[in-house]
Amino acid sequence: MKKVAILGSTGSIGVTSCDVIRKHRDDFCITLLSTNVNYKLLAEQANEFRPDCLYIGRKEFAEDLKGLLKYGPKIFSGPEGLVESVKNSDAKLLLNALIGAVGLLPTLEAIKLSMDVALANKETLVVGGELVTSMAKKKNVKITPVDSEHNAIFQCLKGNLERPLSRIILTASGGPLLGLPLDQFNDVSPKQALNHPTWGMGKKISIDSATMMNKGLEIIEARWLFDLPAEMIDVVIHPQSIVHGMAEFSDGSIISVLGPTSMSIPIIYSLYYPEHAPSAPVAMLDLAKGLNLEFFAPDEKRFPLLKTAKMAAKELGTVPTVLNASNEVAVQAFLDGKIKFTDIRLVVEGAISSHRSVKADDIKVLLEVDAWARKYAEEFISTRGR
Ligand code: MG
Repeated sequence: MKKVAILGSTGSIGVTSCDVIRKHRDDFCITLLSTNVNYKLLAEQANEFRPDCLYIGRKEFAEDLKGLLKYGPKIFSGPEGLVESVKNSDAKLLLNALIGAVGLLPTLEAIKLSMDVALANKETLVVGGELVTSMAKKKNVKITPVDSEHNAIFQCLKGNLERPLSRIILTASGGPLLGLPLDQFNDVSPKQALNHPTWGMGKKISIDSATMMNKGLEIIEARWLFDLPAEMIDVVIHPQSIVHGMAEFSDGSIISVLGPTSMSIPIIYSLYYPEHAPSAPVAMLDLAKGLNLEFFAPDEKRFPLLKTAKMAAKELGTVPTVLNASNEVAVQAFLDGKIKFTDIRLVVEGAISSHRSVKADDIKVLLEVDAWARKYAEEFISTRGR
């Protein structure tokens, strides 16, 4: 039985992960569940799975959480408690489904403890890719991507590592604004931007899909996961979200992974890895129904942040850290109605152009740059806010 720690268990990926584990109770035992504020759902999950450790981000909810529990686990809270909870979890695998750069420190802690990592928190690699991958190599820790595109490409490359690769291709649905006329982007509301056509996801990633920053972050994530230069990582729009990722080899062959549009597949793959799941978590893809698969290039005029992120993937250093932190602040400000949809890019571009990149191999430096970019973005927004 594999002991699994789940960070971010009340979010979209976390809930799906609990659901997958619920159906495979003989193979997994959850030792840690966590949330930032949603203590009611955390208590429900905890009473069902009985992990020894719980983490609640906001200290003021710790007592409410305790009041709902039917047993007595160790409870960690506050920013400093996050890494502590991982340390105490005694897990073999950390499934990191946190949102944002806050996921970096617990990933590093897991690697330090020789815990394998199923990574749904792409910001871990966007912000600390160099540090994380070199440490994982040293500790012989397996990082399995839960992000659907990367999980697919991980599978495409498996068994083909000796074969000359020409490029990998990340597919993108194009998000809810794919067909919107350019002159209407100014007036996009949070509700409109949250309305994703194929994937049901959390708010942050849904807005990132609408700007296509999500795909930009995924380029940087892929750069570190597969140790490839940004020039070998392409993005293609595929509105049906059936082909999840592709690897093109120098002889012209493309290997791809197709599957239902469900995160439970990369989740079950990563939970069982390097073993294999005994069954599919959702209904199989029905090819006989007739699939219409379209592919076309993204329009960078419509999605300027994709271009900015590609540039960050080439430059590296601390540029991706600034890109990510300023974007996190800008997305929240857009959701709070403080800035327009088209201001998100201005915040990010402003932060990047005001930053002098340095080497990104020291956690202290990364945290400082992350904090600087957040402050820059907040000030930018407060002077610009409508
Ligand atoms: Mg993805």
